[in-house]
Amino acid sequence: MKVGIVGAGMVGSAAGYALALRGGASEVVFVDRSEALAVAQAEDVAHAVPFAHPCRVRAGDYDALEGAGVVILAAGVAQKPGEDRLSLLSRNAEVFAQVIEGVQRAAPEALLLVASNPVDIMTQVACNLSHLPPERVIGSGTILDTARFRSLLGGHLGVAPQSVHAYVLGEHGDSEVLSWASARAGSEPVARFAAQVGAPITQTVRERIDAGVRRAAYRIIEGKGATWYGIGAGLARIVQAVRDDQRAVLSVSMVTAEVEGVRDVALSLPRVVGREGVLATLSPELAPDEAQALRTSAEVLKETAGQLT
Ligand code: ADP
Repeated sequence: MKVGIVGAGMVGSAAGYALALRGGASEVVFVDRSEALAVAQAEDVAHAVPFAHPCRVRAGDYDALEGAGVVILAAGVAQKPGEDRLSLLSRNAEVFAQVIEGVQRAAPEALLLVASNPVDIMTQVACNLSHLPPERVIGSGTILDTARFRSLLGGHLGVAPQSVHAYVLGEHGDSEVLSWASARAGSEPVARFAAQVGAPITQTVRERIDAGVRRAAYRIIEGKGATWYGIGAGLARIVQAVRDDQRAVLSVSMVTAEVEGVRDVALSLPRVVGREGVLATLSPELAPDEAQALRTSAEVLKETAGQLT
């Protein structure tokens, strides 16, 4: 499958690199406002291909996206000194207006995969601008937070993260919700599993894992200014689920008709992802405090998205 990437900055290029290494695409096309950057990233990623899987990597303009099955939207502008969040958001919404127009002219059939932050708001913006059905506009959402939750929980229980099924719901950001009530390890509720292996999930353990998930991006940004490898790999994972019609259950963002009483809001829930995009959305069993936190997360996102229009 041909995959377009609009925005060849750190996140876009990391996604292209991950796709090349995982064998997730037959062709990757980088498009950027800066043609020189797109060309350079394409050449650099292409040099990894002889060590990985066959994949044609190139740069081009929007026309080069023709026939793409998925287009990753990773374009965005940086915050100006003193600029508030809403003004930055409006400028990024303007970027998306240009980008989506270009993408849809060249590749009207493409599924859109939104990576630009704040990803839930940008997913809602992309859905509005593209007029595509919501299930064809997917945001990377909490895919990374969920992976980190599983990895920390698996570490505590002494099992592989692949044997842990647990999700981070809601906003990809401060209001996100770690769903402990629905978490399972080897089909057992995690608390039962934990008791059986002598590793109880105490309040301290819960707080440590919660902070480990919620603060991860802050820690990375403190050390290196931004994050890109993790999300690049997460984007490649979503592309593979689409390409191979895997029907994998992934926590990704999408405009959702109703969540805890909040209507038409983009956020993450566990969703079945295949060739046509999101095929189904699950409503995990939540503890009362988790349901309340998810409602708050949905309200925060709904309000921010509303300020943009
Ligand atoms: P991130 O860390 O999120 O990847 P970057 O600033 O590294 O952020 O990358 C964002 C990319 O988006 C930049 O390469 C920038 O040139 C690109 N970009 C910004 N506006 C547009 C636009 N209108 N069309 C295409 N690309 C754009």
